[in-house]
Amino acid sequence: MKMMISRAAMAVALTLSAPAFAADTPTTIPTAAEADAFVAAAEKDYAAFSVSAARASWINQTYITDDSDAIAAEYGAKGTEMGVRFAKGAARFDGVTGLSYDTRRKLDILKQGLVLPAPDAPGAADELNMLATKLQSAYGKGRGTLDGQPINGSDIEARMGTERDPAKLQQMWASWNDNVGAPMKDDYVRIVEIANQGARDLGYADLGAMWRAGYDMPADDFAKLVDKLWDEVKPLYDQLHCYTRAKLNEKYGDAVQPATGPIRADLLGNMWAQEWGNIYDIVAPKGAGDIGYDVTELLTAKGYDAVKMVKTGEGFYTSLGLAPLPASFWERSQITKPRDREVVCHASAWDVDNKDDLRIKMCTKVNSDDFVTIHHELGHNFYQRAYNRQPYLYLNGANDGFHEAIGDFMALSITPDYLVKIGLLDKAQVPGADKDTGLLLRQAMDKVAFLPFGLLMDKWRWGVFSGATKPADYQRSWDVLRLEYQGVKAPVERPADGFDPGAKYHVPGQTPYARYFLARILQFQFYEAACRQSGWTGPLHRCSFYGNKKVGAKFNKMMEMGASRPWPEALAAFTGSREMSGKAMIAYFKPLMTWLQAQNKGRACGW
Ligand SMILES: [Zn+2]
Repeated sequence: MKMMISRAAMAVALTLSAPAFAADTPTTIPTAAEADAFVAAAEKDYAAFSVSAARASWINQTYITDDSDAIAAEYGAKGTEMGVRFAKGAARFDGVTGLSYDTRRKLDILKQGLVLPAPDAPGAADELNMLATKLQSAYGKGRGTLDGQPINGSDIEARMGTERDPAKLQQMWASWNDNVGAPMKDDYVRIVEIANQGARDLGYADLGAMWRAGYDMPADDFAKLVDKLWDEVKPLYDQLHCYTRAKLNEKYGDAVQPATGPIRADLLGNMWAQEWGNIYDIVAPKGAGDIGYDVTELLTAKGYDAVKMVKTGEGFYTSLGLAPLPASFWERSQITKPRDREVVCHASAWDVDNKDDLRIKMCTKVNSDDFVTIHHELGHNFYQRAYNRQPYLYLNGANDGFHEAIGDFMALSITPDYLVKIGLLDKAQVPGADKDTGLLLRQAMDKVAFLPFGLLMDKWRWGVFSGATKPADYQRSWDVLRLEYQGVKAPVERPADGFDPGAKYHVPGQTPYARYFLARILQFQFYEAACRQSGWTGPLHRCSFYGNKKVGAKFNKMMEMGASRPWPEALAAFTGSREMSGKAMIAYFKPLMTWLQAQNKGRACGW
């Protein structure tokens, strides 16, 4: 997942400083006029603060020193303090009637500005801040074991993708979950207690209900919506699971991976079994597996450097009629890794002044992955600029799935046809229809395999926050959900007092996860709409709408709305539909589905 820094994200600080809002209850009911004034003042404060805060953060991430760390931390604390103050201030207007649409919407946005709200109780904010920081840093310092030697987080992640010895995989998997997850459990229980109280103080049933409140519908309806989306795509996942299990059984034998039942979680090329692309070599169909060209080789052969790759990505967006990136983008972005200093290489997209000071921060290498990442990151930038005339609190995606989906939607368009149009691939090199299975299976191993994991992360947390899952059942509930949705199983027995969820960054990192599930679904809806509007009649996964200004104009209509309207309106502005749906994803993978069903004939699918 690529990180994106948006202005509103400045308010979504993970940690909390002391509450600045006094714990007194107002004796009179505030008026609608007071609400308008409160919103206007909050918006003004945030807008002014966000520009300096973004500059401090930019300097810190592109020039890491003790000083830039300290300055960034100061801004972080100040942003958190503002988030707490404005959320609590906004909650005072909960029962007030006669508010305008914008004031009501902006108050709700202010209330949801914090991922972990602290209650007013003395010391609660400090304790929450301390625990959240402690867990984040524990994750960062986490070590697994391989061959008796400690192995750090990024190394163990990479090794899970390349190692094929089941004993070593099991050793890495078990040590990571035991060492990193389990010690966090007591602190996590306490975080849940405190933040739940904070959410209740803001008028939500619990923290999960607060997280779900950001989707323009009652919290329960959102839970039902994600279930509906999952039901739509599950048949495809089931076929992929069945086929992959058979291939793993062929490779490893019954003792390691039986032909029936769940898949051993450590055999899928990823610590969390969330994306399976790393074991494509194990599942690749004979003949169709090799698509005949390699984007890395094409880029190298044509003499591309990092800047040319970014120019090419920009060219996709301008071909749709969007204005080119401003000159400052090229002056201020970090496109390659500086030679002489420490920087954060994790790719991100920025809009520093909330208008057109757009930048990307990458350590671009000339390869296929980074070519895709560039298209993705620029999607954030073009979205940010499209909504830059909205008021500050609307400077965001229609919901948190949209921002990620837009970048991925463009990245989906890096089809052979597109590569021909931009002169990277010769027409004669375009793989024939016989290679479709390979093209689609490679995509599905990441995008389809991810769906149940993307869903269960927050399903688990929603249960924890609501109290339906008690601390004694944290591990058991995780294992049950992993089995039910992913059809995977730990390679070794899990202790009842374990805490495997803590061994996944977004749990100690306190990052809601439903957005990634939504983004996976939405990107195919965007893509299908664009292909339909461009008059494409061939198989969906081969479509390229490069150069189509009509598509660009509609797409821009959705982007311009930012967060100003409920997301179904934004979705309708581009796709014509107000419904999120898994049907486009199913249509995209239809040829693969047919092929998988043929492969799985005679196999007992399911687990
Ligand atoms: Zn992103």
